[in-house]
Amino acid sequence: MQIYKVGGAVRDRLLGKAVTDIDWVVVGATTEEMLAKGFRPVGADFPVFLHPKSGEEYALARTERKSGRGYGGFTFHASPEVTLEEDLIRRDLTINAMAEDDQQNLTDPYHGQRDLEERILRHVSPAFAEDPLRVLRVARFAARYAELGFKVAPETLELMRQLSASGELQALTAERSWKEISRALMEDQPQVFIQVLRDCGALKVLMPEVDALFGVPQPEAHHPEIDSGLHTLSVLEQSALHKQPLTVRWACLLHDLGKGLTPEEEWPRHIAHEHKGLKLIKAVNERFKAPKDCQELALLVGQYHTHGHRALELKASTLLELLQSFDVYRRPQRFEEFIVACEMDARGRKGLEQRSYPQADYLRGAANVARSVAVQPLLEKGFKGPELGEALKRERLKALKAYKESAVP
Ligand code: ATP
Ligand code: MG
Repeated sequence: MQIYKVGGAVRDRLLGKAVTDIDWVVVGATTEEMLAKGFRPVGADFPVFLHPKSGEEYALARTERKSGRGYGGFTFHASPEVTLEEDLIRRDLTINAMAEDDQQNLTDPYHGQRDLEERILRHVSPAFAEDPLRVLRVARFAARYAELGFKVAPETLELMRQLSASGELQALTAERSWKEISRALMEDQPQVFIQVLRDCGALKVLMPEVDALFGVPQPEAHHPEIDSGLHTLSVLEQSALHKQPLTVRWACLLHDLGKGLTPEEEWPRHIAHEHKGLKLIKAVNERFKAPKDCQELALLVGQYHTHGHRALELKASTLLELLQSFDVYRRPQRFEEFIVACEMDARGRKGLEQRSYPQADYLRGAANVARSVAVQPLLEKGFKGPELGEALKRERLKALKAYKESAVP
């Protein structure tokens, strides 16, 4: 048997990037030989094994054929006769379809190295169209390597366009899509992921609610970039520049969905878009079965981001309602994530990226003030049950009034 390094490990070494996980392909071996060498099978009927010591993935060389819709619809054929070239041709991009032996000799039948040098994301063969997940993968690689100047090849974008129009994208499971989306959002330029999906028509299929924002104007006085879609891309870009976690990035992407519902007669104003957007945010959340913390933050940011921007003008009672809605007493982290999402929203405006956002510290201060109202004295006065809750609210309101007076002259 011959063993080769494949995929991302080869690509990233040639790019001079750190290699984190290594995938291996084994040519000329049978399942029985692998088991005899101590490899552990990953699944009952999949020719992938884990190395007994390193735990790295070793896959028998295989060919694949599409046999139906969706991912279940794949049959593969692994046998000692399958060649390295045959295994590599089933892969998505030429830059991912190179192999290397233990002497670092490169096997590169589909010219991945040339495409690496020319900074091109190009599909290996027409079989690319057999797995719609590849549309998401290419967009994710475009986001990851945008900084190096990589672009999607026009013929690959055309295939992605056909796949998006064919209805195949709908066959993807929520789990597979979310895995790609969440990884892409954590790249340095997640806005490129959304842009590429939009360019090939996949955004319209996967997240029509986000796609609908493009071409919708906002008032120029607050939004010099005007377009709601471009604004959303900038907010997402800011969230990555500021190294925000996935929850915040997800909330940034979805915060303005309501603007896509505004009747044209009301443009460029978007009355109550915060509230109108909630059902759209919920739909996107559920479509991809996003994790609970992502879902929750997206809804809260959608509903309250304008409150965040107007923090310094809010009455003490409104401020208190905001803090109560976030349950800042038990969920301090979630409120902090809301604050930074609002800040990213404010910075995601053309020419205003560097403007300071005093609302953030003001809100942090308010949360601290509300949190530091002690319960003990109220208990000592004999308050219990709902009355205790009311008394606590009154004390918090008093403290917030004082805070507002001292902080906002
Ligand atoms: P990463 O750095 O994100 O791990 P990677 O290229 O190693 O990138 P993996 O998901 O680990 O990506 O997959 C390893 C290799 O398997 C890829 O380089 C590619 O050759 C192939 N591959 C993975 N998923 C697909 C797919 N859906 N279609 C075609 N080839 C795929
Ligand atoms: Mg990998």
